[in-house]
Amino acid sequence: MLKLLKKALQVGDATVKYPFKPLEVAPCFRGKPVYDFSQCIACGACADACPSNAITMENDSKRGVVSWKINYGRCIFCGRCDEVCPTGAIALSEEFELAAARKEDLYCQAEIQLCECRSCGEYFAPSRELDYVLAYLEQVGLTDYDNKEWKQLMKLCPECKRKQRAAQWVHGQGARRKA
Ligand code: SF4
Ligand code: SF4
Repeated sequence: MLKLLKKALQVGDATVKYPFKPLEVAPCFRGKPVYDFSQCIACGACADACPSNAITMENDSKRGVVSWKINYGRCIFCGRCDEVCPTGAIALSEEFELAAARKEDLYCQAEIQLCECRSCGEYFAPSRELDYVLAYLEQVGLTDYDNKEWKQLMKLCPECKRKQRAAQWVHGQGARRKA
């Protein structure tokens, strides 16, 4: 018995004072994914990567918005969303107290504007995502700064872009034949 008491005294406290004191979590702890609306470009990478479908996205082409939503009740804290997000809009935190009295409190959602095709008027891609791509292309020097035509092409939906490119090609062929 004395031996056991001695051992217990040597080991010290094996329990923590939580919830009366905040609990310190381990480095790289995988807690609640926190979403930053201001950084989100609605690219959908997190929704594609999420293995439990906790993150979902839905286009509303009538209102011209894409809805982003996370259901913390489905999250398994794998961190895939954090890994794939290109802008850091979603990142795992150290928060683990996720109990909620109402189901709705487990949701976080946002709406992001879609870009309207300048030819047919259809909504086709998140405006923020297009701006992000344009800024990236400029940053890496893959754009011709004097030629604004490619920028206009980015504002066309895939179908109108295809038609415009086809029309340009036919026009180019005609000009070559005349020459
Ligand atoms: S941590 Fe995993 S399960 Fe949770 S939202 Fe991110 S990808 Fe989905
Ligand atoms: S991956 Fe990041 S930027 Fe893309 S939709 Fe998810 S949170 Fe938004």
